[in-house]
Amino acid sequence: MIEDLSHNEKLILNVFKKSNKPLKAYQILFQVQKKGIKSPTQVYRALDKLQEIGKVHKIESRNSYLICNNTDCLNKSSVSFLICNLCEKIVEIEDKLFSNHFSKICEEFNRKYTQHNLEIFGTCISCSEKK
Ligand SMILES: [Zn+2]
Ligand SMILES: [Zn+2]
Repeated sequence: MIEDLSHNEKLILNVFKKSNKPLKAYQILFQVQKKGIKSPTQVYRALDKLQEIGKVHKIESRNSYLICNNTDCLNKSSVSFLICNLCEKIVEIEDKLFSNHFSKICEEFNRKYTQHNLEIFGTCISCSEKK
């Protein structure tokens, strides 16, 4: 899969691998500018592709992007994250039960389920222990 990536997509994926935390588009641009990616459009185009193949996910509420650490991520269109309110640590959860659950809810309302985008907020263990 990685081999199919363009030069820019590989560069941007590497930025994620090095930081391993959520990044905003301008932070990515800042890091790849020296390597020849000059415009936000190029960054967004690469991010779109990386999202499409499930290598990177978007955290909507934070308007940032996070690398996926699952080898073959099931979350290509639907994503679920646990977000710590205090330290902003984000964990991705892969859970087919969510899709099953939401498709049942959709049926009840005469809808056909397609995807979900779930962000669950709470406090992580290390932050709760600090109190
Ligand atoms: Zn994923
Ligand atoms: Zn925390």
